[in-house]
Amino acid sequence: LNPVFAERPVTIFAVMSALANEHGAINLGQGFPDEDGPRALLDAAARFVVEGPNQYAPVTGIPELRQAVARANGRFYGLDVDWERETLVVSGATEGLAASFLAFLQPGDEAIVLAPFYDSYAPMIEAAGARARPINLEPPDWRLAEEALAAAITPKTKLIAVNSPHNPTGKVLADDELALIADVCRAHDLIAVCDEVYEHLIFDGRPHRPLMTLPGMRERTVRIGSAGKTFSLTGWRIGYATGPEHLIAGLVKAHQFVAYTTPAHLQRAVALGLDFGDDYYERFVAEMQQKRDRMRAGLEAAGFDVLPCEGTYFMTVDIRSVGYDGDDMAFCREITQKAKVAAVPVSSFYHPAAPGPRRYARFCFCKKDDVLEEAARRLKSYF
Ligand code: GLN
Repeated sequence: LNPVFAERPVTIFAVMSALANEHGAINLGQGFPDEDGPRALLDAAARFVVEGPNQYAPVTGIPELRQAVARANGRFYGLDVDWERETLVVSGATEGLAASFLAFLQPGDEAIVLAPFYDSYAPMIEAAGARARPINLEPPDWRLAEEALAAAITPKTKLIAVNSPHNPTGKVLADDELALIADVCRAHDLIAVCDEVYEHLIFDGRPHRPLMTLPGMRERTVRIGSAGKTFSLTGWRIGYATGPEHLIAGLVKAHQFVAYTTPAHLQRAVALGLDFGDDYYERFVAEMQQKRDRMRAGLEAAGFDVLPCEGTYFMTVDIRSVGYDGDDMAFCREITQKAKVAAVPVSSFYHPAAPGPRRYARFCFCKKDDVLEEAARRLKSYF
């Protein structure tokens, strides 16, 4: 077995979901909504399954979806995107990220990741033969310091992976942090792989600002979005990448050997979703913001110190605040088994060679209101 995979455990999301099922716990661990996305998309997909196409889609994705991706880039961010040369449909953001690392990295290269990070980044960077160089951000504000970024750069640095809004912390990169990353990318001729799957989940009226929109970044950035997150359809496995022609052409070559194609009927339905009016996007973020506030109130009532959550559908707590002195993995197991509420340990989002703090747990709040209330009640009576 390739040591990159042999030496890593089964993904924490699968582990905690299995434990939650085994113990009949409310699953606030793995990030997925407990209500499916818009009925119009479900109906459209059902119709398109019958109508087809049901054979291989084009490798790059169907034109309707790629055109819709290009339009969305213009509508939301003012980006002028050529759908034929600058977009690619991928089988979920996870595949888009993997294909990006395989396409852009070679043995000897280094890629910077900001830790904590989504668990697929480091293994897929390493599967490409490159070295992942984590920068561990410091809670509670997880700010990216100029010195830390400068210290991580070497002559071998090829790429930086940037995730904002950020899983698991709920942080949204500030303008000065984006500017700093852009400066470094330009100065060292780096590619930025931007994981923007939560682009439509930023709270308190704040807009999303893609790194790609900063000066000099358009030609060196690949921006990845996900219909799973934007339309609450995580099982459909539809994502989309936008970038300059030279990077997308390379990405297509990796994608053709990883996923080859993505189901065409689901692509057709997602294309309709991207063209939804502003009311859809406004309602989506407003509903999730209410859930955030409900979750925060519930966790605080149970005695937790809750860290800031500016975006995504995740919220982290300091487990010391309820007097727990074990590590976050033991904490998550204990509350799943005994309080019957599952969460995931933030320490699973670090590189094995640069472990992070073991005192934070992440709760996912894209759940029905009564489920969030019941979870809060259980935690309150347990602690
Ligand atoms: N992105 C989701 C999370 O962070 C689920 C990911 C997964 O199951 N691989 O929980």
